[in-house]
Amino acid sequence: MKNLYVHGIETMLRADLHTHSEASYDGGIAFDDYRAIVEDGQLGGRTIGIDVIGITDHDVIADETRELAREYPGRIIVGEEVTTIYKEQKVEIIGHELSEEIVRDMPTFEAVESILAQGGIVYIPHPYDSARKGASDELIRELYRRYDIHAIEVKNGRERPSLRNYGAFALNWAFATNALNEDKPVAMMAGSDAHGSAGIGYTYTTLKEYPQPDTDYPAHTDYHAIVDSADRSGHQRMVFAGYIEPFMNKRRKLKQARQAGRAAVETVLR
Ligand SMILES: [Zn+2]
Repeated sequence: MKNLYVHGIETMLRADLHTHSEASYDGGIAFDDYRAIVEDGQLGGRTIGIDVIGITDHDVIADETRELAREYPGRIIVGEEVTTIYKEQKVEIIGHELSEEIVRDMPTFEAVESILAQGGIVYIPHPYDSARKGASDELIRELYRRYDIHAIEVKNGRERPSLRNYGAFALNWAFATNALNEDKPVAMMAGSDAHGSAGIGYTYTTLKEYPQPDTDYPAHTDYHAIVDSADRSGHQRMVFAGYIEPFMNKRRKLKQARQAGRAAVETVLR
């Protein structure tokens, strides 16, 4: 396993594919702030350093989001974090590269099919965290079985450090799943879930190239999932860096999955 530390790799792009604008009902980043991040890399005197930003508002795609994406192709991604229903529970699913808004409260599978039918990217936010409408283990497995889901969030920037480290569960699931199914990889990603400008810049995934709808981004094995996260006030910071070696044997990968999950938990508890 190659461990990479993001600050040492200047050629990698930093992507944060889970952010909320002021069009979300619970508030978010001002559209002018998105513009400042893209244009200047700065916000309020702070260096943000995010190259690719997904705007994933709750159940809506704002006109301003579409305009920004047209203005900054490849750097602003049109997304939506849509509320869906699975077995009478609310579950949030993110779609990226969407042209059509997905209607809220439809069955989860229908919403995923609607994302895929548009050529979009399916990203599972805050998995395992049922209190925050994250997909359950059962649903994650079923989604994986039925569809080519692209990404699972192994670190959410708003996850509270606690014994219930849902990101570690997701990390374990993704490591093991990728180890056992090399032809059907799921990218492990980190998203800030920022609902304001204070939350952006600390949590991101590094990518080798700008995402384009016609590439296989992000579902390929040669990816890096790097988490560098802080709470909204910036006090706590954890770093996880991972890289999947394509030629590593399965047993070693599974061992690595267990270690990665444990390491993530330990980092949080420290
Ligand atoms: Zn969110």
